[in-house]
Amino acid sequence: MLLVLGDQLTRRGFDADKVLMVEESGFARRYEYHPKKLVLVFSAMRHYREELRDAGVDVRYVRAPTFADGFDSALEDGDEVRVQRPAAHADALRDAVRDAGATVEFVDNPNFLVSPAEFDDWTGDRDEHRHEDFYRCMRRETGYLMEDGEPEGGDWNYDDENRDFPPEGYETPEPPSFPQDETTRETVRYVREEFDTWGDIEGFDLPVTRQDALVALDDFVENRLEEFGPYQDAMLRDDPTVNHSLLSSSLNIGLLRPDEVVERAVAAYHRGDAPLNSVEGFVRQVLGWREYMRHVYRRRTDEMHRVNALGATRPLPPLYYDGETSMECLRTVVERVRRTGYSHHIERLMVLANFALVYGADPHELDDWFRLAYVDAYSWVTTPNVVGMGSYATDAVSTKPYASSGSYIDRMSDFCDACAYNVDETTGEDACPFNALYWDFLDRNRDELGDNHRMSLMYGHLDRKEDDELEEIRERAEEVREKTLDGNI
Ligand code: SF4
Repeated sequence: MLLVLGDQLTRRGFDADKVLMVEESGFARRYEYHPKKLVLVFSAMRHYREELRDAGVDVRYVRAPTFADGFDSALEDGDEVRVQRPAAHADALRDAVRDAGATVEFVDNPNFLVSPAEFDDWTGDRDEHRHEDFYRCMRRETGYLMEDGEPEGGDWNYDDENRDFPPEGYETPEPPSFPQDETTRETVRYVREEFDTWGDIEGFDLPVTRQDALVALDDFVENRLEEFGPYQDAMLRDDPTVNHSLLSSSLNIGLLRPDEVVERAVAAYHRGDAPLNSVEGFVRQVLGWREYMRHVYRRRTDEMHRVNALGATRPLPPLYYDGETSMECLRTVVERVRRTGYSHHIERLMVLANFALVYGADPHELDDWFRLAYVDAYSWVTTPNVVGMGSYATDAVSTKPYASSGSYIDRMSDFCDACAYNVDETTGEDACPFNALYWDFLDRNRDELGDNHRMSLMYGHLDRKEDDELEEIRERAEEVREKTLDGNI
């Protein structure tokens, strides 16, 4: 019997005539998840079940509070269960199947390109294994964007061509919308009635079948990939997409495979339909970061949920839930996430995570928020991104914190022009709250960060500030923190 998990909805390598699926409601009660995320997973599972049944597969579909309950009702002593190796928490799944009297065999998971054994073999005895090395290894192994053993175009990445801000009046092609069918409408009603959630359920239009996900992939490659690269870090008040693929919600539940989306992008480059900087930027996200994060999390799961290198313990501010703030950047992005369950990577890293970092919010509370709020978020991808990269609670995934003042947001967005705060001011009640928090963050974390050579430029700037100025910054930072906690920032 093949056990199919809710994030493994692929037919690649499918050779079963008997399938078990458990629709677990307990996970959906662990947090107040975004309702669109719950609709996505449950509707996609139900569509997949129907596709299998139409193809003559015997599907046992169990709704249960927990996996253990589902296995108890569906498995018998001696049953042999095969399942694709889960993205994370494989031991817990193995134990739950065994507790129901069955045996379990893990098979390759086509939703990832690198198996645990291959990644562990690559790291060898090294504790240090950086993404850039992994990514280059992946390029060489797969041959994607390689020519005669060298990277296509001569460079491994084209980041310096991918930091532009779009010209006035620039418009991104509208991404496709997928109307709800009866299965999805029924799922929307179920989620609405059954669960406490955070965010808007109205307007759910994500792909829930492989067929729809392939349409979304076609649309990205044909209409948005070409200009994805140069503007991939730009943030626009009226445009949540900015040419991003929006494929992660499909990729992370198995409706699309990483190799096929990479190959489509690479083929567009070879046809001359998309430039190298756009294609390489996209390939790095899927072939590099996505695979790398999965394995970093797998190897350090317990540590990732405990670490707090900077000792950040403040509760996550209420604005992450109610969006009530005069800070235009945070207001726009939180509202965007509440409406859609999505915002792109720079809004996640340089607005939401950056503010929590310089404010001093507990990284694990921030991690929980990302996991509940985003339609594409699962612990294997969210925790290393949020706890590692966004919060720098460990140096496992980045060598320095992604902390910045308001100037980065000003350079890469149109938020500051519409903001009640002045991005050029650091102190005073109209000053951009990011600014004082940023300098105060460097000041109060000097013991942990001061020796980091990648921070030496920032500490050089801090050291040139007079004592009076530094004192004013500390006072403004404290005022910002108090107002943020009170919901008045
Ligand atoms: Fe955000 Fe500061 Fe810019 Fe306002 S001025 S949008 S708070 S970065």
